[in-house]
Amino acid sequence: MSIRFDDQVAIVTGAGGGLGREYALALAARGARVVVNDLGGSRDGGGHSDAARAAVAEIEAAGGEAMADGGDVSDYAQMQAMVAAAVERWGAVHILINNAGVLRDKSFAKMEPADFEFVVRVHLLGSAFATKACWEQFRQQNYGRVLMTSSSSGLFGNFGQANYGAAKLGIAGLARTLSLEGAKNDIRVNTIAPTAGTRMTEGLFPDAMFDAFSPDKVAPAALFLVSKDAPTGQIVGAGAGVFQSSAITLTPGV
Ligand code: ADP
Repeated sequence: MSIRFDDQVAIVTGAGGGLGREYALALAARGARVVVNDLGGSRDGGGHSDAARAAVAEIEAAGGEAMADGGDVSDYAQMQAMVAAAVERWGAVHILINNAGVLRDKSFAKMEPADFEFVVRVHLLGSAFATKACWEQFRQQNYGRVLMTSSSSGLFGNFGQANYGAAKLGIAGLARTLSLEGAKNDIRVNTIAPTAGTRMTEGLFPDAMFDAFSPDKVAPAALFLVSKDAPTGQIVGAGAGVFQSSAITLTPGV
């Protein structure tokens, strides 16, 4: 099955590296015009994070269309400006993948209120703000596909990640509610829950299992979840989800 996204505009947040970059490249390779968002600069072409600009250059070199956006997902006004820039250039936005994220792992005993606020703000509020910024456009055109990024750390818990786990389970709840409210306008909202991060789990899993978490393995599931024929309101595990439910992944240094 080869899913195409011709004539569609997609926004991927946190797409300077890792999973987000993989999503952006895969969408562009299948015909989408892609906004590559990552923190780190102005929207005027002169301060985007190097990583986002590099991803855009890679897409363009392959014959695709993309633009970099340096907006902070936790700033609603910046998300509104990002969506406005995409609509101005390409006339619409059809797909949003909320992927931006940060970690501030600490045992709960050592976790400060600021550690909670920062991580919850970027993940949970960032996902809500970016989605809200697209919502009216989706409603007006009676079409929208949103992918939220949860995590096995949210669904099952993980040491050192009280802040992240809380945000990630919250994201699943946000997605479920939006799938209900969006249904009448064909706005479909799903959640992908990759098994705990890639780099931090290196060495903790057998090689074959570790390989199952790599971005190129997760991207196909994500593409289906933002496609025309996507389901809605689903939470899809990606990676060794069942194993993870009973596993402890210790983050070094917490
Ligand atoms: P993954 O592999 O899951 O994509 P990464 O840590 O590699 O994980 O990617 C998360 C991305 O999100 C990073 O490129 C980071 O710069 C970006 N990011 C972090 N905070 C924000 C934010 N507030 N707004 C936009 N992007 C952000």
